[in-house]
Amino acid sequence: MVLAREAALRHSRFVIAAFRKNASRCARLSAALHFQVLMPDPSLILCDGCGQPATPQHTARRLQRLEWATRYRPIHLHTLVLGAVSPESQTDYFYSPDEAHGREAAHLFTAAGIDRGNKTADVRHSEFQRRGIFLAHVLECPLEAPSSLELIGSALIARLPAVFTRIRRSLKPRRLVLIAAVLAPLIDLFATGQLGCELVLDDGGRPFALDIANPAASGVISRLQDVLAVPAAR
Ligand SMILES: [Zn+2]
Repeated sequence: MVLAREAALRHSRFVIAAFRKNASRCARLSAALHFQVLMPDPSLILCDGCGQPATPQHTARRLQRLEWATRYRPIHLHTLVLGAVSPESQTDYFYSPDEAHGREAAHLFTAAGIDRGNKTADVRHSEFQRRGIFLAHVLECPLEAPSSLELIGSALIARLPAVFTRIRRSLKPRRLVLIAAVLAPLIDLFATGQLGCELVLDDGGRPFALDIANPAASGVISRLQDVLAVPAAR
């Protein structure tokens, strides 16, 4: 009888221990599930520079460009030069420390009267900065997927409120120069956006189209040169 009671007691202790073990496992599982629910899906977080999904790779590239550009942002920004979409290649990005700059950078240095010569990228960027000029893009990152002109136009329009806020509150340039033909349909929005700066356009009230096939031949670069030659006195 006593033996039977001890056996029953041992069995009940075993059941309680097993229950506690299972309860603990369930609690850990519940915590893990809860954690998974609270962890946001990276594909749902949007990049603050372009509005595309902020995957780790996308964010790393964005932060790198931001670091390069911030180094050469003038304290008193005289002329904000605004492109449409940041170049696909990091080395083609204007503020990249790579000496072999891409098309957009080459055109801009020429338009700013900066002889590329044997100067390092740092020297060129410093000269650009001393002129009070800064380059930004409506979409601060390249588009992740190939897009039609129509889709690029929609992406640009979607970013305008954020860009306007950045111009008004942070960049505060004295004047704004648009340098991409693809921004032409948005000119009225820039003109009426109360940006607190002068909007400078090319002949015919169009952007300075540095993104066309041969902007030098069409005189765009020399006309932009005339604009950027104005001293950056405030
Ligand atoms: Zn981005």
